[in-house]
This record gives sequence, structure tokens and C-alpha cells, in this order.
Amino acid sequence: MVNRWSKIWVKFLLLAVGLVGVGGGCQSVEQEANREASSLSEVLTPAAAAIVEAIDVNAEAGAPTMVMERIVPGTPIQRYGDEIVVAGKLFRTGTPVVLWMDEDGYDGYRVERLFSELDRAGWDETMDDGVRLDSPNRYGMRAAVLTRAEQERVRGGGWDLPTLQRVVDQFVLHYDVSGTSAQCFKRLHDDRGLSIHFMLDVDGTIYQTLDLKERAWHATVANSRSIGIEIANIGAYENPDAEPLREWYETDDAGVTRLTIPAHARPERVRTADFEGRPARAEIVTGKVNGAELFQYDFTEEQYAALAKLTASLCAVFPNIACDFPRDAGGNVRETTLSTAEFKAFQGIIGHSHIQTNKIDPGPAFDWERVIGEARELLKPDGEAELLSTES
Ligand SMILES: [Zn+2]
Repeated sequence: MVNRWSKIWVKFLLLAVGLVGVGGGCQSVEQEANREASSLSEVLTPAAAAIVEAIDVNAEAGAPTMVMERIVPGTPIQRYGDEIVVAGKLFRTGTPVVLWMDEDGYDGYRVERLFSELDRAGWDETMDDGVRLDSPNRYGMRAAVLTRAEQERVRGGGWDLPTLQRVVDQFVLHYDVSGTSAQCFKRLHDDRGLSIHFMLDVDGTIYQTLDLKERAWHATVANSRSIGIEIANIGAYENPDAEPLREWYETDDAGVTRLTIPAHARPERVRTADFEGRPARAEIVTGKVNGAELFQYDFTEEQYAALAKLTASLCAVFPNIACDFPRDAGGNVRETTLSTAEFKAFQGIIGHSHIQTNKIDPGPAFDWERVIGEARELLKPDGEAELLSTES
């Protein structure tokens, strides 16, 4: 006999344990949960089946108690591989994200270097090797936007989400001038003692290196109020024949431009095996940033798609990040650094060049309208399904 209560509990339990080892994925959980409880033992692992048995017995004996008591110790939580971490909480993005604690991740919390020789990685050896770092930590506290009492409360890292949502109101875009996220992390973390919340590699993989509660060191006056991302791209130059552009791109006779990662930029560690990168536009892009006429190859299609989803996710999680960028009088992207007053008032997606007059990233090739346009589509109520969809 299976009464109504036990069926409800079985459904709840299946959703909670994620049908361990039964094909995975949200769809199969729901399909299986809709089947008759009597046939559930066929699709359950022995451990999960044992819980169902226990609940059946309990349900018939009387009202069930807290389902949490029924969880088998050591039952793994299923992750989707698209989550970002915000004040310790996970949020879906709909695009692959590798966290700092994941295999292949980049850990911004670690003191040691990642790309040095193994026995030279520690802090003392790093100092002995003459690397000029100010401190073992490469990140700090968002002190400038917190009261003294709030600083005391979060100094150990125990942020609450509402406080973080209140103080973070900018998403800063950079290009990394390193070409790949592996080289970016090597330069930032190992060589310069800096940090960034996200890196976006050429194949569209997003790496999160720190919880967004941390103050990453990437954009001077914007650090305390912002989230930062380094997008893999070798950068913009006044000379279209600049050596980095010749090294990193080649155009064949048919006019197809390919990304060619040079030997000195290894390990490249691009997560997609044998990834063949192409700039979204084959021809080199030219444009003005902070007074300089610059040439730059575009970012990849994979990077644009991933960035739109991440941008939409951040705008959804952080109500003070407006889904828009600094514009000139004509409504186009602003080519120059904002004034102090403009910077102070701006809440939204912003380029490094909008913050500092000595910066030109993310450069003239970056397609602001495309990223913000796609992010806004994802944020519409009927676009939500795609934003939250699972990518296997
Ligand atoms: Zn920058």
C-alpha cells in the first residue's frame, strides 16, 4: 500500500536527491517522479531505494517528519556546471562556468603561484625569486562601500547577500592582453599579485576565481563597488601590423581569420579540445578609445554568447547593476573616460577605459550593443527559460 502522503514525500525526495546515478538531469527527475511510486525502486540506486522504503513505512505509521532526516549521509548534490558563487550562494547562468574549487579551475584565494616550478610556488620562494608582490593575498575587503560596523561583520568573509546586492553596482569589462585565461591568471596572480572575479576564455568558458563578495584588484577606483571580468583577447594597437596582432591572428586567401595561439603563450589550457577560434568579424576592427585610433580583432562568437548570459545573470542577481553601458549624446558607446561625477553616478556595465584615462580596454572591437541587447533579451520574462536552461 502506498498512500497519498508517501507519494508526495517520494516526489519531494527525488527532487532533493536528484536521482543519483539515474541518468541525471532535471528532466529525468521530473519524468521519473511522475511515475507510480510502486515502480520507483526500479530506477533508484540501492541507497535511494532504501530511503523510499523507510518513508513508505513511516508514512503508513503516521504523519511523516522532516525529510532532511531521511537524507543518506554523503549523498552528493548535483551541480549543473553553469553556477556562479555570490556570497556563498549558487546562481545559474545557462553557460559553462568553472569555479575556483573545480577541476581545471583557477583559485584566486591561493597564496602560491600556479605556473612556477612546483618547489618555487610558495610565498617565501616567490619572494626569493624577486617577484614583486605587495601581499600574499591578491584580494581585499570592499571596505570603501561599507560602514565600520559592516566591515566588522563581514571581515571574516561571512557576507549576507542583501548587503552585497546593495553595494555592488558596476560590472567592469577588460580584455586581458594575455590571449588566453591561463596566461591571464599567470600574469595577474603569479606575476603581479592582482585578481579578477571572472575570466572568459577564447572558447567561451567562464572561470570564476573568487566569490563576488571579495574586492578583486582590477580597476582602481571601481574595485570596491564592482565585479570584474578579463576577456581573453591580445588587445588593441595603434599599428594594425603590431607584432601581437600578427602573432595571434592569421587570415587565409579565402579571407577567413583564425586565432593562432603562439608557442610562447603555452600552456594555453583551453578547455574545449582542439578549439579553433575565430574573431566574430573576420576583418580587423578600427575605432577610437580615449583619443587613440586603434586596431583590434574581434572577440569570438563563443565569448559573446557566454558574456551575454553572464551579464544577464549579474543584472538579475544585482538590482543596482542596470543592463546598460555608458553612452555619448548620440546614444552610442562612450569613447572616453567618464568624469568623476559621471563615474560616481554610473550603475551598469562599464569598460575599463570608462574608468581610467590611461586604459583602452575592452577596445574598439568590443560589440557593446550586441552583448547588452542579448542580455536584455534573456532578462525578458519569455527569455528566462533560455537563461535557466541546462546545458549538458
Ligand atoms: Zn583592464
